[in-house]
Amino acid sequence: MASIGLGAPGGSGAATLCPPRDVLYRVAMQITGEIDGGAIEIVDATDARAIRLAIRPDSAAEFRQWFCFRVDDAAGEPLAFALENAAEATYADAFDGYRVCASYDAEGDRWFRVPTTWDGAQLRFEHTPDEPSITYAYFAPFSLARHQALLARVDAAPGAEVVTIGETVQGRPMHLVVIGPPPRDEREEREDAGSEWDEKTTPDATLPDDDEGDDEGDAQGDGPDGGRGDTEIPPSLAAQRLKIWLIARQHPGETMAEWLAEGLLARLLDVDDPTVRAVRARASFYVVPNMNPDGGALGNLRTNAAGANLNREWLEPSPETSPEVHAARAVMEDVGVDLFLDVHGDERNPWCFLAGCEGNPGYSERLRFLENLFEQTLCAANADFQDEYGYPRDEPGGGDLSTAANWVGERFDCLAYTLEMPFKDNANDPDPWVGWSPGRSRELGAALVDAVAVCLDSLRAHLDLAPLLGDGDGDDDEADTSV
Ligand SMILES: [Zn+2]
Repeated sequence: MASIGLGAPGGSGAATLCPPRDVLYRVAMQITGEIDGGAIEIVDATDARAIRLAIRPDSAAEFRQWFCFRVDDAAGEPLAFALENAAEATYADAFDGYRVCASYDAEGDRWFRVPTTWDGAQLRFEHTPDEPSITYAYFAPFSLARHQALLARVDAAPGAEVVTIGETVQGRPMHLVVIGPPPRDEREEREDAGSEWDEKTTPDATLPDDDEGDDEGDAQGDGPDGGRGDTEIPPSLAAQRLKIWLIARQHPGETMAEWLAEGLLARLLDVDDPTVRAVRARASFYVVPNMNPDGGALGNLRTNAAGANLNREWLEPSPETSPEVHAARAVMEDVGVDLFLDVHGDERNPWCFLAGCEGNPGYSERLRFLENLFEQTLCAANADFQDEYGYPRDEPGGGDLSTAANWVGERFDCLAYTLEMPFKDNANDPDPWVGWSPGRSRELGAALVDAVAVCLDSLRAHLDLAPLLGDGDGDDDEADTSV
């Protein structure tokens, strides 16, 4: 008989999970008191061949789609599951063509798909585990342990740093990764070159600043890890460097976004990569791998602990109910933004695609040129990315400025995107075993470096654009770029 429990239970936040009354078993996997995205309601698990489950809503909102749970002591036993309320999911129609993800190592990146059927009412899947413990999820979760390991890897790398920029609704730290110039070659007396940057006496408190910074934007000043201003600003970061921003998981169940961020960061830390060296010589990267740590810990699809959809909070973020956006926006005001990517997952569309800022009041021919350049470069750098399918384009002036990409693009007059990856698969190159996956998300993240490299010269070189823009006829076809 199989026993079933929440994927990542226990801890101080367990009470907010609304655990089902009939949880039969709990797995001890506790790290720093935070829970790890488990979400399921068990209707009846007495019969392993007819396990009745329900998808529960976000902790403080009615969104409902994410599920993640672990089954123990079921090796060799045929299991049959039914998510009985799947028709009540927020994007129920998106279950058409979807297959459930599974792994024997919930914190790892080796996930596979299991045969799944959707009849318009219930989502059903059957599987016989090979090992005693298995996790099933809507998509491969990105665990807190993996998040911490990623930050540790960054913090150990020369020229890179983890900064705490604020707190979530529930008091979790908001982490920003800052990656500056590459360390000089060892042949160039590396100890001298890296000395200032490497001295991290208070690693969570260092933040590049510039002359425009003020106390208003000092989002982390009152947090437990706050206290800016008491550390040296790396001189090379303080001025004259382009600022490339990427944020992931505003919608916490869209975990592919953090897998992508991991891939981007892994490549950026590889200073043997000549493209990385060239880009880092001129630009600094500001990456928030997880914009919604509460929502991730609570097993939410779309909202934070206060029930806020963070990607509708950018016009007027609230320190109380959307402090995550409030903190990130304040740092952007401090350091500036020259290119912005807000990374998401899309339940319905089986493609990777970008959504730009064509609906913004300040959208311009310059930005259209940059969009074409970036998208075509990314198409060439990673074949999982395409620019044929995506969201309908906004009408001029019809952009929603409460979303991150539109707000940042308008505020900083910069190239700004929402980047979407599928929950299902890339229909142009489907993988029957893994579908869309952590590995493919990571590869796309790494490829972003190539697109950034090609666009870097153009991001702020307004005056140099005229000859590249051709006839400037203003149409939307993408055949008139110089790429
Ligand atoms: Zn999203």
